[in-house]
Amino acid sequence: MADCIFCKIDAGEIPSEKVYEDDLCFAINDINPKAPTHMLIIPHEHIPTISDLEEGQETLAGHMIKVARDLAHKAGVEGYRLQFNVHEKGGQEVMHIHLHLMGWM
Ligand code: AMP
Ligand code: ZN
Repeated sequence: MADCIFCKIDAGEIPSEKVYEDDLCFAINDINPKAPTHMLIIPHEHIPTISDLEEGQETLAGHMIKVARDLAHKAGVEGYRLQFNVHEKGGQEVMHIHLHLMGWM
């Protein structure tokens, strides 16, 4: 998707180190961390918001949660928060689905 920052990161057009990647999604460190560990789990597919998820795509959301759980364990955080911001009113700034993983030691 043109002019989507996360699609550009996925395509390597904007530099950002992927800390994880599989067939469905990838993860990066948030550029403006709001917790000691703050990663974003992002599907390769450009879907603007959680509201746009269609029938059958709920497995993608479940997969992203599992990836976030595994990354939290790998980072060794003691407690963590998983958050989808939805729509501008819900705090979403980048209109490409992403799951925030925020963790504390
Ligand atoms: P949201 O407000 O839920 O849309 O979250 C978007 C997140 O993307 C924010 O926490 C930003 O700090 C983060 N972000 C924006 N641009 C980049 C980037 N180039 N690399 C990593 N994280 C980014
Ligand atoms: Zn995108």
